Amino acid sequence: MDQSGTITKTKVTGLPGDGIGPEVFHATQRIFEAAAAPIEWEMAEAGAEMFKKGVGTGVPRETLDSIARNGLALKSPLETPVGFGGKSANVTLRKYFELYANIRPVRELPGVITPFSGRGIDMVIVRENVEDVYAGIEHMQTPSVAQCLKLMTAPGCERIVRAAFGLAEAETRKKVTCATKANIMKLTEGMMKRMFEKVGPEYPDLAQDHIIIDNCAHQLVIAPEQFDVIVTSNMNGDIISDLAAGLVGGLGIAPSSNLGDHAAMFEAVHGSAPQIAGKGLANPTALLSAGIMMLRHIGAFEAATKIEQALFITLAEGKNLTGDLSPRGHGVGTDAFTDQVIANLGRSSNLPSRDYKKFELVAWPDLTAHTEPNTRSLVGIDVFIESDLSAQELGQALEAIAQDTPFRLNGISNRGVQVFPPTGGQTFLVDHFACRFMFKNPIPLNASLANGQPEISYLVQRIGAKFTWMHIEKLQNFDGKDAFERPQGEG
Ligand code: NAP
Repeated sequence: MDQSGTITKTKVTGLPGDGIGPEVFHATQRIFEAAAAPIEWEMAEAGAEMFKKGVGTGVPRETLDSIARNGLALKSPLETPVGFGGKSANVTLRKYFELYANIRPVRELPGVITPFSGRGIDMVIVRENVEDVYAGIEHMQTPSVAQCLKLMTAPGCERIVRAAFGLAEAETRKKVTCATKANIMKLTEGMMKRMFEKVGPEYPDLAQDHIIIDNCAHQLVIAPEQFDVIVTSNMNGDIISDLAAGLVGGLGIAPSSNLGDHAAMFEAVHGSAPQIAGKGLANPTALLSAGIMMLRHIGAFEAATKIEQALFITLAEGKNLTGDLSPRGHGVGTDAFTDQVIANLGRSSNLPSRDYKKFELVAWPDLTAHTEPNTRSLVGIDVFIESDLSAQELGQALEAIAQDTPFRLNGISNRGVQVFPPTGGQTFLVDHFACRFMFKNPIPLNASLANGQPEISYLVQRIGAKFTWMHIEKLQNFDGKDAFERPQGEG
């Protein structure tokens, strides 16, 4: 409210989207209006129609500008074209605005009966949204071997861990669990775990634990009520957040937010459901719930609780529910459900809304993130070679090549398992070998970083005269610690 007593409205970019999108968006707008939610819409376009008009990303410049101006968007599902266009408009938006925190609340809703009803499920999954294998850096290494880079960064891990702790405090939650595969991927997934352990002590009022992601999936089904906030990397989060949504009624009712330092985008988890599009049958609960998250994000707590309670009581009383939540043949359409929620505005359900405080991400500087260790040395290189030789033949050939160089062949692995020198294991070989050469005398690196390059070039030239190589990885040591992993089987 400003000084004259007028309620100030927050401008939000509205994206009605594709398929059932416009139907659930319109329903949300109607409920917001009836609840006097302090929102002013700036409507914009993205998705299927844009692809058809030749916008390669599915998101035209005006839409990007609108979101950049407002810093807020409520987005209905966008279709990803199959057979043309290529890019996903959803991913474009996430990456363009660096919306790194995907927040997926999972709470048992009244009247939505599932095999887990009554367990008191009430958790939030905080998924890193832009890094990991989803960076999409993929290469065919040989005609039969594909590679995808799993990139995880210290700032990427730190900001998502901080987001999880910040959210837990804002929602007065009690525990944050970090779920990783750090036991196998010690450098990438391990980075998330180490960051969690480093940042955690700054939040002494929150209980904290770590769980291996596969056990997390298991525990989510065995005893989901034990979880409060789970923070995890992109692909882990993608999978367990859908699993968790399934525990409380499925994707059709699940909301999410995508938060970044400069913009926030709120959306339903489900897609455009083309089978029921245009029929007036869609359930607007997920998008409406995303809208409620957005109201809390801007501090409009009163409107958020009013709408949430009207939704809860509508679901609890079970009158006028859409087909997906009703016994076969008893569902109503989107409009009748929306009317019912509007009629219930002002009533309270038996399920209280959670206590929220304003939650803001820790803003990150727009600089290139860089950490310089005190000491760095170059200890070797991995050269990835395409070959149909046996491991023994390849090993002997590379040992001969390395003889008059500053390197020695340390070993060869195939899909991460040492095959030369032989270990006695029974590894199936593909034509893609990681050949590890160590410097006979490791090279301390100074700021010029040029050290070691003539030696590497010399070795690679010699290898290239006899074999096809795809790429090279430098093996470094930072502050006395090896900055690389060893293959399975290496002693
Ligand atoms: P989907 O659109 O979520 O639909 C799967 C099924 O779920 C629907 O056929 C429908 O089941 C049910 N459903 C989903 N939302 C519902 C709602 N609000 N009310 C009632 N029922 C609902 O998944 P999809 O068919 O895999 O994807 C379709 C398109 O959406 C694709 O182009 C995909 O790329 C896109 N997509 C977009 C997003 C996004 O924008 N974030 C997310 C996922 C998918 P019944 O047929 O049984 O009624």
